[in-house]
Amino acid sequence: MEHSLTFLGTGASCGVPSYYCGCAACVEARTDTRAARSCACLLVSATDTSAPLPTQTRHTLIDAGPELRTQLVRAEASAIDRLLVTHEHFDHIGGIPQLEFYVKLKSLVPLPVYAGSEASAAIRQQFSFMLDTLDLRPLDLWQRLEFDGIAYTPLPAQHAPGTFGFLIESPKTRLAYFPDTGPLPQEALAALAVEPLDILVIDATFNGRNWMPRSHHSISDAIALAERLAPAKAYLTHLSMHYDEPITCVGLSELLAPYGGAIEPAYDGLRVAL
Ligand SMILES: [Zn+2]
Ligand SMILES: [Zn+2]
Ligand SMILES: [Zn+2]
Repeated sequence: MEHSLTFLGTGASCGVPSYYCGCAACVEARTDTRAARSCACLLVSATDTSAPLPTQTRHTLIDAGPELRTQLVRAEASAIDRLLVTHEHFDHIGGIPQLEFYVKLKSLVPLPVYAGSEASAAIRQQFSFMLDTLDLRPLDLWQRLEFDGIAYTPLPAQHAPGTFGFLIESPKTRLAYFPDTGPLPQEALAALAVEPLDILVIDATFNGRNWMPRSHHSISDAIALAERLAPAKAYLTHLSMHYDEPITCVGLSELLAPYGGAIEPAYDGLRVAL
């Protein structure tokens, strides 16, 4: 089985460029689309290379932001086998309606959606018109799920009530994904420290002043956490790039140069082997 992860989106909810913004980061993203960022979501792919042709790839989606349709087209993912939800904010569930006609016209079975109680309630309330296409399944902290040779364990994050990060373990890679979090709760830090982490993917919403220090990281907070957990590789995600001080991708590369590639910004479309 071959496993990989695609960053469908690596931005905060405002996106880069923002339609209302003319900061240096947005100017850069308007001239170079590689600097553009959509809402943070992940796609984990598992391909059984030993199966007879044509090989089949299974896809696990983590979060479904409002740009999901274009993100999936770009990633060339023609099927989704399940959705795991970190939390109920719009930038993480606002694209769920874009799964409705995939279920109705292609997969023909309700899509398994694993979500905590708060996110589940929000999905039921906001998307009541399409509940016949979703197979909502409860998900609790520490409840280990396994799909296609990969284990997913929800860990506590400090963000909206009931927000999860995920510990994602393939046979080769131990990865932590915390797209929205303030300082990590002790239990999460302890769980991550049990074994060395190969990859940390961490909230780096703000640059300069952290406007929401209890529920998000700034870039410097994210760097400090990466130095503390010492993964082989850390990727910054959920980057607003605008606030408090706009930073361009060029500026971010210069800021991270001293880490010699150990800490890098993720970007939309980045694919990493697991
Ligand atoms: Zn801007
Ligand atoms: Zn959030
Ligand atoms: Zn978010």
